[in-house]
Amino acid sequence: SNRFDGKVVLITGAGSGLGQASALQVAKEGSKLSLVDLNAASLEETKGKVLEVAPTAEVLLITANVADEKAVENYVNETVERFGKIDGFFNNAGIEGKQNLTEDFGIDEFQKVVNVNLNGVFYGLKQVLKVMREQGFGSIVNTASVGGIRGVGNQSGYAASKHGVVGLTRNSGIEYGQYGISIKAIAPGAIMTPMVEGSLKQIDPVNWEEVGKQFVEPNPMKRFGKPEEVGYLVAFLLSDQANFINAVVIPIDGGQSYK
Ligand code: NAD
Repeated sequence: SNRFDGKVVLITGAGSGLGQASALQVAKEGSKLSLVDLNAASLEETKGKVLEVAPTAEVLLITANVADEKAVENYVNETVERFGKIDGFFNNAGIEGKQNLTEDFGIDEFQKVVNVNLNGVFYGLKQVLKVMREQGFGSIVNTASVGGIRGVGNQSGYAASKHGVVGLTRNSGIEYGQYGISIKAIAPGAIMTPMVEGSLKQIDPVNWEEVGKQFVEPNPMKRFGKPEEVGYLVAFLLSDQANFINAVVIPIDGGQSYK
């Protein structure tokens, strides 16, 4: 039987990259989906792809900014109104921001990245945990990063926000385990998504693929991860099979974090 038959999964940042790949994976396994993104057109794109792999899937699309507390309350309420519950929550939307030395790092830029990557994750946790505690079940995966485990450099906002996501995960995991709810973070390394493609193209619009090869040369596996590889992990972590995995951060990075 399918791991997600009868289940409801809520995903932020579902219009692209890791959110989209995870939506496709859980949909293939029977899930109903509530998909949130800032970008309405990209949500439609994900819905189209979902219906290709799971033609009978029920899909709710919600255009919302995860950095807006009220919008977060709304996307959680809309999901529960439509589907009656939330089994899994992939708290994933995030941005990278401009890279710079700490002394040159713009304060506006710092706040912008923290607002989305950290505050957005916190707002999502607040609202979804209320629902899950009442239900007495649920699983949450927050998207951190290698940059949330170790220093990468030139990423004050990103590093602070992603280390913060790991902290929120550990903190809420120990609070909510007693209610049957497990909360984990994933720490992806370099995964070839539109976000990463965009940063490589900023460095070199023409030979960005070459830049990419150099970029992953220090990785033990010397390649980028694929979004679907993250999708498999997220589906497992959101499934009942992973209920006892709680309050931890799981790298998916070809070995980069512990090199
Ligand atoms: P992506 O840019 O391909 O997808 C992110 C999606 O989130 C986009 O559709 C975007 O519209 C949406 N989004 C951005 N800000 C939002 C907001 N304020 N409200 C709602 N939606 C918003 O990027 P991705 O690579 O899939 O990244 C997903 C997550 O994974 C992010 O948190 C990112 O930091 C993290 N991550 C990615 C990598 C990687 O190598 N790709 C590595 C580590 C961590």
